[in-house]
Amino acid sequence: MGKALGPRTNFRVVIEPRRLGNFGSISVSDSFFYRGPLADERIAQEYDDRCREIAEQVRRHVDNVSHTSVEFDQEPVCQHCGSTWTESSDDYNGGCCAADEDAQLAREALTTQHPEGGDGQ
Ligand SMILES: [Zn+2]
Repeated sequence: MGKALGPRTNFRVVIEPRRLGNFGSISVSDSFFYRGPLADERIAQEYDDRCREIAEQVRRHVDNVSHTSVEFDQEPVCQHCGSTWTESSDDYNGGCCAADEDAQLAREALTTQHPEGGDGQ
């Protein structure tokens, strides 16, 4: 086998925030705090705020720190139903829900009416 690990580079310290529902001896699900259609966004905002506060405290109190940043993962989803985006198109997710399918049919109808490209002029 010719493949080996090269030199270790790009060192960084990873700090993960305490879960919202973790109170030490008592722990509840994050969904305990927010309900409804905006729950995921509110929970994400709480984590964002918590992480920025941690980063600020690290900058003030920890030696030999050059830079702190808050990073997160964000996967594309359907704006209508929240399903994982599986298609290469930016407009059509393969009909993951009725709204996605309806929007695609509307776009196809527009293209049929304006076969020159339909740039709205
Ligand atoms: Zn959908």
